Amino acid sequence: MVKTGIIYHEDYLKHDTGDHVENKKRLIATLDLFNEYKIFEHPNIIKISPNPASIKEIQRVHKAFYIEKVREKCLSGGGWLDADTIVSPDSYNVALLAAGGAIQAGEMAVKGKIDNAFCLIRPPGHHAGPGVARGFCVFNNIAIVAKSLIARFEEVNKVLIFDHDAH
Ligand SMILES: [Zn+2]
Repeated sequence: MVKTGIIYHEDYLKHDTGDHVENKKRLIATLDLFNEYKIFEHPNIIKISPNPASIKEIQRVHKAFYIEKVREKCLSGGGWLDADTIVSPDSYNVALLAAGGAIQAGEMAVKGKIDNAFCLIRPPGHHAGPGVARGFCVFNNIAIVAKSLIARFEEVNKVLIFDHDAH
């Protein structure tokens, strides 16, 4: 039996992007559909509530000055990090929680507790560079989980990232 983990935390809704195309309605609509189809009652689905990633984990991909820049931007009320990435006061903590969710999915898969995972997380995280926000992404969740698994698990030497970005 294939076990699927669904990573979700209600704090993901606290990344307030206003009228931006990447907003909390994206997750709410998905959750509504999951509930309509009783996805969480399925015996092979595990709902996983993640913890925030540590700064050490974020630093596997991002430069310290950039992490600090994001934190300060959020502390000072939020705003635009680049031309299309906006943050609110809670976004820094939510971004740590998004990276933490990705890490937890990868870790549970490597440990064999799940076979695959669906990460219902935000802010999204695949366009951000080491020192820049890009394309609605604050931290690069997928790069962070890849580096984290390689660093922490002897049996993981490589991670293949197949990135299908459909808007
Ligand atoms: Zn994209």
